[in-house]
Amino acid sequence: MSEKIRIAIDGPAASGKSTTARLLAQKLGYLYIDTGAMYRAATLAVLKAGINVDDEAAVVRCVRENKISLKISDGILKTFLNGEDVSHLIRTPQINKVISKISSYKGVRKVLIEQQREMAKQGGVVMDGRDIGTVVLPDAELKVFLVAGLKERARRRKLELELQGIELSIEEIEKEIANRDRLDSERDESPLQKAEDARVLDTTNLTVDEQVDIIYGWTQEILKTLREKPAAGDR
Ligand code: C5P
Repeated sequence: MSEKIRIAIDGPAASGKSTTARLLAQKLGYLYIDTGAMYRAATLAVLKAGINVDDEAAVVRCVRENKISLKISDGILKTFLNGEDVSHLIRTPQINKVISKISSYKGVRKVLIEQQREMAKQGGVVMDGRDIGTVVLPDAELKVFLVAGLKERARRRKLELELQGIELSIEEIEKEIANRDRLDSERDESPLQKAEDARVLDTTNLTVDEQVDIIYGWTQEILKTLREKPAAGDR
């Protein structure tokens, strides 16, 4: 049995997925894959091309024709669109406004899910998103569903936006997050949903370090069980 597992982290917007997943991957020496960043880069490609976001066929064609990649540099995950670093450009209110529509298209998801599975093929990955435990990696050895109260999520998102020099009121942020969660949960393709076998972690009153420690502990438990399981030939 391989010593490296696949960890799927799903949950609503601003529930702490990206930060937790990145630090956990660092601690385990695993690859971190932020699938939200991929949908964000796809959305940026569509907006840059001036395509009408309601034109599903044109959107899908555009996503297929653009190259989206993720690379870790100095411990920070960077997102590239056709070789250009777009890590900052993908985290704006303009992107947030239309991303749920772009990511609801079956053809868009097909392109990105294929890439995500390819990246996770070797194991040793922490992947975060909305449909990782349910659709992308249904066989992941560990599945986590992160939740947090809306007020706390909006507070965290406000701090993140302020660091980027973007000022939005807490009410506007709450509205944007709640709306995106509703659209992501109600869509037909890969809706935001807890996998039946996912462990739920409420991060409302946890620090980032505490969140990482809890999931790290779960990972160690699973690795131990896998090590103790007799190989098929020994039985
Ligand atoms: O995780 P993040 O908030 O960056 O994701 C942005 C958006 O990308 C989500 O609101 C959702 O519409 C889409 N997404 C998705 N499936 C994923 C990851 C993100 O549909 N696996």
